[in-house]
Amino acid sequence: MALDIVLYPAPVLLEGTAPIVEVTDDLRQIVGEMRRILFEERGVGLAAPQVGIAQRLMLVCPTGEPGDEIVVINPEILTAEGEEIGEEGCLSFPSIFGKVPRAVAIKVRYQDLELREREFELSGWVARIFQHELDHLNGEVFIDKMTPESRAKVEDRIEQLRRSAEDLQRNAEENPGATEPPGAAGTPA
Ligand SMILES: [Zn+2]
Repeated sequence: MALDIVLYPAPVLLEGTAPIVEVTDDLRQIVGEMRRILFEERGVGLAAPQVGIAQRLMLVCPTGEPGDEIVVINPEILTAEGEEIGEEGCLSFPSIFGKVPRAVAIKVRYQDLELREREFELSGWVARIFQHELDHLNGEVFIDKMTPESRAKVEDRIEQLRRSAEDLQRNAEENPGATEPPGAAGTPA
C-alpha cells in the first residue's frame, strides 16, 4: 500500500471520518505510510484524511523527529482553556500559512495503537498541533479558522489550489484511461 498526500479541496478532507474499532494489519500499514509521509514532508502532524483515509487516526510529532511521533486514535478534547493566536501551515495546503486562534491548554483523551485509553493535558505548541489534526478528522481545515487578515492574504493561493484540482479533474474526464498527470508524458505546453 502506497499512500500520498491529498491536497485541498479533495472531498476526503471535508467530509469527516469514522471511529476505529479494531486495529487490523491494514490499519498498521496505514500508520506506517503516514509515518513515512510525515517525515518525508518534514511535518509535525498528519491526519488520516490527508492521505485519503476517512478514519479517526492522526500522528502528532511536535519535534518533527522520527521516533517522537505519537499515534492518536479516536481523539477527543475534554476541556479547553485560554486562546492564543499562532502561525500554522498544512501539508494539504502547500505554501499557505496563516495565523489561527487555538485554545492554549487542552485535556485530551484518545487511544493508542493497542487501543489503550490515554488521557493527557497538553499546552502550547503540541496542543496547537493536536487541535489542527483533530479538526481534519472532523472535516475542518485551518483556512476556515484563520484570522480575517491572514485569510485575506492567502485567498489567491487557495483559488489556485481549487483551479488546479479542477484542471486535473477535467483532464481525467477528457482523457479516460490516461494514467499520467498532464504534461508528464508529452512535451511541455
Ligand atoms: Zn493540516
